[in-house]
Amino acid sequence: MRYFSTRDVRQEWPTTLDTALGAGLATDGGLYVPESLPTLHVADFRHCHDLPEVAQTLLAAFFLGSSLAPMLGEICRESLDLPMPLVALKREGSKGLAPEERTQTWLLELFHGPTAAFKDFAARFLAACLSRLRSPDDPIRTVLVATSGDTGSAVAAAFHKRPGFRVVILYPNGRVSARQAHQLGAFGDNIHAFCVDGSFDDCQRMAKHALADRRIARRHHLTSANSISLGRLLPQMAYYAYASLVLARRATAGATTPSLVIPTGNLGNALAAILVREIGLPIGQVHLATNANATLSEFFAGAPYRGRPSTATLANAMDVGDPSNFERLSWFFRHRDLRSSGIFAHRVEDARIAERIAEAIDRYWQVLCPHTACALDVAERLIVAGESGELLLVATAHPAKFDAVVEPLIGKTVPVPPALAAILQRPAHAEALAATDHALVMRLEQGFDV
Ligand SMILES: *Cc1c(COP(=O)(O)O)cnc(C)c1O
Repeated sequence: MRYFSTRDVRQEWPTTLDTALGAGLATDGGLYVPESLPTLHVADFRHCHDLPEVAQTLLAAFFLGSSLAPMLGEICRESLDLPMPLVALKREGSKGLAPEERTQTWLLELFHGPTAAFKDFAARFLAACLSRLRSPDDPIRTVLVATSGDTGSAVAAAFHKRPGFRVVILYPNGRVSARQAHQLGAFGDNIHAFCVDGSFDDCQRMAKHALADRRIARRHHLTSANSISLGRLLPQMAYYAYASLVLARRATAGATTPSLVIPTGNLGNALAAILVREIGLPIGQVHLATNANATLSEFFAGAPYRGRPSTATLANAMDVGDPSNFERLSWFFRHRDLRSSGIFAHRVEDARIAERIAEAIDRYWQVLCPHTACALDVAERLIVAGESGELLLVATAHPAKFDAVVEPLIGKTVPVPPALAAILQRPAHAEALAATDHALVMRLEQGFDV
């Protein structure tokens, strides 16, 4: 399989998967995309029993010709072997089913990895690939990530103590939850956390600037691991394929294909679901649930695309005003109308997020994180509007990461999952950094002891 940049419209500069995985962004500033998508059917997966096996079958075509192809099975087993429960959402006291109860709603919990957010799947897969692409005598590579909270810790956990790698994390001071901040600073060793006196947009701009600074990029062998990295997009497709196969196997004759509701920020997670549908697996409509950041909901309602600075909300990991994967989504739909392709976007204000968290505990016996609450709000709206098929909502983070938002709303403490508790018990340290491109370059010039 050959890969191209989204900006290489005439497809003159093909590259390999190995290069695309290591580079993050293409040299012309575009995003890497595969030249084509394979076509697969439910029957192609009949011998698959778990997520790593589904991932191997799904991703084989993308790894054709890569030096990693013979290791794909091992990479999937090592990185994707995380629990991923599919929970049926049942309404309390719904014995005599009201019309709106005919919709079966599922919650796909993707937060049972080491850092309690869905980003663990992709970060671990990327780390497993990059480690295997490295030769023992290669210099140390520095993975530079700007994070709105969850990417940084997932990447840190995936690369912690991995020989040949160092991670530099930039996070916005005061814009991540206290537990997220602690988690980011608690790894130590080859992980360096920087608390930037600015917004996530500043962090992202600083990281881009450093990556584009030839001298610094060469000295540190910089790479990135943000949500535009192809090595994160590919593994995210696996859990959607798996969930659609589980539901297809359960489905009775005449059942409709399930629609998805996905909490969305940079559009990485949802794009993976859309691609799985393009490949041919049974997924119906894809609903993007965003917070108050309105770029996507306005676009899908008919307005021209307009990126803008992000607004801070309760669902902070989705505080994105210019979703970086929009360019990739547009590329895949370059010959079709994106707005009539079964993709919808809905905005959820903070007040609604709070309301949904508060009522989900009584109505569904579920404690939701603020991002997952956006998906629930969209699902409830769809049901009221007459949606009658199956709905699959994606739960992107464990609510214990957002205890300061969630606990006052539900009036009780949220038990902390063991992996998260273990990280929170360690001491944490982050270096303060001014929100300028120069400050980061200066700091990188000083170098690191480990
Ligand atoms: C990153 C994140 C999202 C948004 O995912 P995108 O791929 O950026 O759209 C949603 N919820 C949580 C908890 C996240 O960490």
